[in-house]
Amino acid sequence: MNAAAPVALSVRNIHKSFGDHHVLKGISLDAHKGDVISILGASGSGKSTFLRCLNLLEMPDDGTVALEGEALKMKRRRDGKLQPEDRRQVDRVRSQLGMVFQNFNLWSHMTVMENLIEGPMRVLKRSRAEAIEEGEALLAKVGLADKRGHYPAHLSGGQQQRVAIARALAMHPKVMLFDEPTSALDPELVGEVLRVMRALAEEGRTMLVVTHEMGFAKHVSNRVMFLHQGLVDADGTPQEVFGELKSERFRQFVSSHQDRNAH
Ligand code: ADP
Ligand code: MG
Repeated sequence: MNAAAPVALSVRNIHKSFGDHHVLKGISLDAHKGDVISILGASGSGKSTFLRCLNLLEMPDDGTVALEGEALKMKRRRDGKLQPEDRRQVDRVRSQLGMVFQNFNLWSHMTVMENLIEGPMRVLKRSRAEAIEEGEALLAKVGLADKRGHYPAHLSGGQQQRVAIARALAMHPKVMLFDEPTSALDPELVGEVLRVMRALAEEGRTMLVVTHEMGFAKHVSNRVMFLHQGLVDADGTPQEVFGELKSERFRQFVSSHQDRNAH
């Protein structure tokens, strides 16, 4: 962990239930600048819910989130549920927590370049020319300089996901959240996306990555968190978490994902 670096994202005691299903039972985490944290866990263990609670796509029932020291303002309604106190703050913080989804979520009626410039123009108030100039640089960075006029449907899944990463980068996020960014891809397209993510990690970007890619978790991230039944079951450096395999549940999880270790 980059313990000497300032804290980029501080999360305390997140709880979330759906009905009587208590999905998150108090999850906390400090991501220091430059940390790349892999979040692992079985399907249904609450990984997506956790990421979505960080940018309030899902309202937590309890807990706090602060980005570079700025706490997301939430207030408790009379029925006990939390709600955002300041919509504008939520929009701003959301744009600073660049999210990359499993299914890319590009705007299908817009070209690649239009996907890239929409947020910067609307939210960051960039001129069209500035946004395009930066969009071109970002497309080059993800290896898609020649695709600016294409529509998402005409790109492979790996290309779409690289556009989605470029679109997140265009907002100058303070922290990037990835929710299984390679899970929807054909195996032969996984590598091109992981290479882009590795390059971002090497640039020192702060990243939370929900993934089943054990190679990424072991070799790219500097910290691994394993969620089990709504709690953090193992947390540490990849050496600690994979090396000792202290948790029986984590051992089982790893062995059930061995077939994906090829990457
Ligand atoms: P993961 O991403 O680890 O696979 P999720 O966070 O998607 O897990 O889901 C955790 C649990 O919460 C699952 O049992 C799922 O069915 C449930 N869940 C997630 N979102 C909702 C929702 N909007 N309404 C009801 N249950 C949900
Ligand atoms: Mg999920």
